[in-house]
Amino acid sequence: MNSGFTTKTILFWMSIVFLGVMMWKLVSSPSSPADSVSYSDFLQLVSKNEIHDARISLESNFVSVNAGLRHSQKRASTTVSYGDWQDLKERLIDSGATVEYANQKSSDWVLLLLNGLPLLLLVGFCLFLMQRMKGVSWRAAQAGSSKMRTGIGYDLHRLEEGRPLIVGGIELPFDKGPVGHSDGDVLAHALCDALLGAAGLGDIGTHFPDTDPQWKGANSLLFLEHAKKLLAGKNFAIEHVDAVVITEKPKLGPHFPEMREALAKALGVSSDKIHLKAKTNEGVDAIGRGEAIAAHVVATLSSR
Ligand code: MG
Repeated sequence: MNSGFTTKTILFWMSIVFLGVMMWKLVSSPSSPADSVSYSDFLQLVSKNEIHDARISLESNFVSVNAGLRHSQKRASTTVSYGDWQDLKERLIDSGATVEYANQKSSDWVLLLLNGLPLLLLVGFCLFLMQRMKGVSWRAAQAGSSKMRTGIGYDLHRLEEGRPLIVGGIELPFDKGPVGHSDGDVLAHALCDALLGAAGLGDIGTHFPDTDPQWKGANSLLFLEHAKKLLAGKNFAIEHVDAVVITEKPKLGPHFPEMREALAKALGVSSDKIHLKAKTNEGVDAIGRGEAIAAHVVATLSSR
């Protein structure tokens, strides 16, 4: 059941109970306070048939009487000793008054309960809210630790003359291209590894082994499309991709918009989620000598 709905339902019924108790107390309380009179004055009221009803409460050392008057909204109360209350009761009955008995101790408990019930409800509600907030915080902490996933990918290919240079799904005008089983797209390969790593689904070699002839010369965007389906199957969504492509030549920056569009289309996301950067290797080692091209990618996923 929806937690918000549960909270509202509990709150609603607590409000109903609270209002019910308040209404009951209001209706059941005497309409006017009783005037305390002496026992002799009370006996005069009895003898004049002024008493309509009488409520007799047996206290520990005495007996109290709370009476409604026939010709007045007021009530009268008095106390009588245990030795006289039976006589008073007979007089009241003889005068036509209705006599009721009340166990004072029970009334005390009822009164205590009625006065304490709203407080108990309030305390209970506060405890309930605190419990809920602790639960929500705990779940938020749990969600925070497991909802976002990050993966890293790296790839490098040697460059040879006479091969097409494909980076990010785009063929760039250049006299060298990567040596590889597929089209050698380092950016797509590193991105694929980052996505699979973030989802805990292995790496590109697991899903597209370079020993499988069906991937010979394959467009690497196909790998990304397959990775997208694997992520969807695990309820992962791509939040962000950040990539660095390292090569001495050619300049990649002018081609980034087209690369971002191609990669975003293969992954089924907005190109806003694909961020590309280009670096040279300052003439150092194989990349610096123009003999290789490499890419580093970090991908962030969220679980849905
Ligand atoms: Mg590769």
